[in-house]
Amino acid sequence: MTSSIPVVNNAPLLDVRDLCVDFVNGSAVTHAVRGVSFQLGHEKLAIVGESGSGKSTVGRALLQLHPKKARVSASRMQFADLDLQHLSEAQMRGVRGKRISMIMQDPKYSLNPVVCVGKQIAEAWLTHHPGRKDEAKARALEMLEVVRIRQPERVYQLYPHEISGGQGQRIMIAMMLITDPELIIADEPTSALDPEMVGEVLDLMRDLAKDGMTMAVVTHEMGFAREVADRV
Ligand code: ADP
Repeated sequence: MTSSIPVVNNAPLLDVRDLCVDFVNGSAVTHAVRGVSFQLGHEKLAIVGESGSGKSTVGRALLQLHPKKARVSASRMQFADLDLQHLSEAQMRGVRGKRISMIMQDPKYSLNPVVCVGKQIAEAWLTHHPGRKDEAKARALEMLEVVRIRQPERVYQLYPHEISGGQGQRIMIAMMLITDPELIIADEPTSALDPEMVGEVLDLMRDLAKDGMTMAVVTHEMGFAREVADRV
């Protein structure tokens, strides 16, 4: 993936310059991302490209979620006051899920099968606000309403295998929103869903975009990009 996107006025929230990601496998090197630069202000940016062009790799590199065999370099990777390239793992844990949340493609692999979904949402908040269990539960129930889950009290108690794929993805979105992050990265949030579930998640993403959330949406669908994003 290569790109060049004009600079946004004022100090951007996210400033990425010359991002390169190589995957090293023995003597074989895959140059997955080559010199990607973009800035993101308080707006919605869509990162569009065909499958395999390196979009997810860009998102993961920002949060240091890339596999060990990946080599990441950039001349700048600044998020607000933080130089993302030089954060320790402990510092990064304070950023992931709290200041930057990432909605992954497939809720199946992100939800814990043995913990009820409501508790998983509450725990996302508790991690950053230890000891405030009752407040975490109240907030989790509120978030279930925000992501348009009907009967939130009932759904709170369900386990991942008892909910649909579309509900699972909305639960994931609730987990990502509950900490009120400054930036949401959504990586093809509907690509793992059955076709009949796609609409409800897209509707929710459109509403979040309208609410003024700062988002970077990774997608291969130009129509969706055009609808939710200020810039592509
Ligand atoms: P996109 O999100 O645009 O579909 P990806 O970021 O998933 O693309 O992948 C970009 C390229 O990097 C692809 O050629 C893919 O095969 C390669 N790639 C992604 N992850 C790995 C990995 N863990 N090891 C080796 N190559 C990878």
